[in-house]
Amino acid sequence: ALDLREKLKLLPDKPGVYLFKNKKGKIIYVGKAISLRKRVRSYFQRGVFSPRIGSLVSRIQDLEWIVTESEAEAFLLESNLIKHHHPRYNIRFRDDKSYPYIKISTNEDFPRVFLTRNPKRDGCQYFGPYTNVKAAKKTLRLIHRLFPLRRCKDKFKNRLSPCLNFYIGECSAPCVGRITKDEYSSLVKGVSLFLQGHYKTLVSSLKEQMLKASKEQEFERAAKIRDAILAIEKMSQTQRVTSFPGEDIDLIAVAQKGRQACVLVFIIREGKVIDKNHFLLNIDVEERQGNILSYFVKQYYATASFIPSQIIVPEEVEEKEEIVSWFFHKTGKKVEFVVPKRGDKAKLLKLASENAALILEQNQPEKKEQPLLELKNYLDLPQLPFRIEGFDISNIAGSEAVGSLVVFEDGKPKKSEYRKFKIKSVNGIDDFAMLKEIISRRYKRVLEEKKELPQLILVD
Ligand code: SF4
Repeated sequence: ALDLREKLKLLPDKPGVYLFKNKKGKIIYVGKAISLRKRVRSYFQRGVFSPRIGSLVSRIQDLEWIVTESEAEAFLLESNLIKHHHPRYNIRFRDDKSYPYIKISTNEDFPRVFLTRNPKRDGCQYFGPYTNVKAAKKTLRLIHRLFPLRRCKDKFKNRLSPCLNFYIGECSAPCVGRITKDEYSSLVKGVSLFLQGHYKTLVSSLKEQMLKASKEQEFERAAKIRDAILAIEKMSQTQRVTSFPGEDIDLIAVAQKGRQACVLVFIIREGKVIDKNHFLLNIDVEERQGNILSYFVKQYYATASFIPSQIIVPEEVEEKEEIVSWFFHKTGKKVEFVVPKRGDKAKLLKLASENAALILEQNQPEKKEQPLLELKNYLDLPQLPFRIEGFDISNIAGSEAVGSLVVFEDGKPKKSEYRKFKIKSVNGIDDFAMLKEIISRRYKRVLEEKKELPQLILVD
């Protein structure tokens, strides 16, 4: 294999993604660049680096890269690779959950709407991520009630009659032609507007449909549409009004403390806060906020079907120009980042930041883990020492040697598992030999009985 220096010479002057590996071959950092050659080589030139980059560079033993067609593609690849490999030196989401999205399968003749945890680039519409799964499920139930899209995955070949979903009013039965393709498409559009939070536009379009239905003497359909209008109007009345009438905004606040950060997103549509989501991140101590924002925005909007025209942030986002042009490439829309200094937007941002700090406070990693974490770092252990066993020998007046074992689990003594050992094979005072005896007796037994082994053994 080529060594690092040879690989550096081969780097192309093209956009793409690069991966740094440590001596064990583990990916420790993923980055993207307009020019792989310039960007990657810059790490190895003399210069003053932040402690983090310095520490990263000292660990790089190998490198790989992937050339992409465009920078926009590099963005997506970078974010997917980070999600997949969780590199040590990238900012990462703390709980590695995959959050659900609501998907409209617009690549089908008669699209469906459902939850998925696996958004793809398949031309379908995705809304989310939803950090509150319960709320997402509730939204979906409401959608099924208001917009009777089909619930099955059928190909509709030999259906003669609709299934139960039709009879309970939750499907418009395209399988047997009870709804025209046009009418079905307007249902799909309705769902999309609903998920974007564009209730005003939605209601006025539904009103038109209702009029049309009653003109055509389809009174049952008109009544259903009227019910949907009432439900949507009722829902939007309960939402908090902001002082930005009609505006679509995502407001992103950040709180950070030590190695943790919380990002809180307020989703404002047509001037109302329709939802909020928070995310916990693992960061480096003293990570720049602009960098956290940049990382977050890239991950958060990677699969979004709708990006508002304004995103309010507390600070300039790093790589802002690139991100804005990536958004333009994705949605054909100009998105601007705004850092408000005063006025209502600044006030709302302050409120959101306070909330983010509060969430962070409530979600600190368990206190009891803290000492274990310190011990782990201090001793450079591969995992948290959840179970610790300690051995000691005591010689009472030079005879009657006794070995003792203490056990700690989860940072607390577990007295029920303390043991005493009579030394059998060693005569005289020889602590090493005695320890050897009791330790081998102990773990022979543990292995025989298939009991749990400790992560750390301490001997006196
Ligand atoms: S009524 Fe027809 S289209 Fe609707 S869910 Fe049942 S089978 Fe599918």
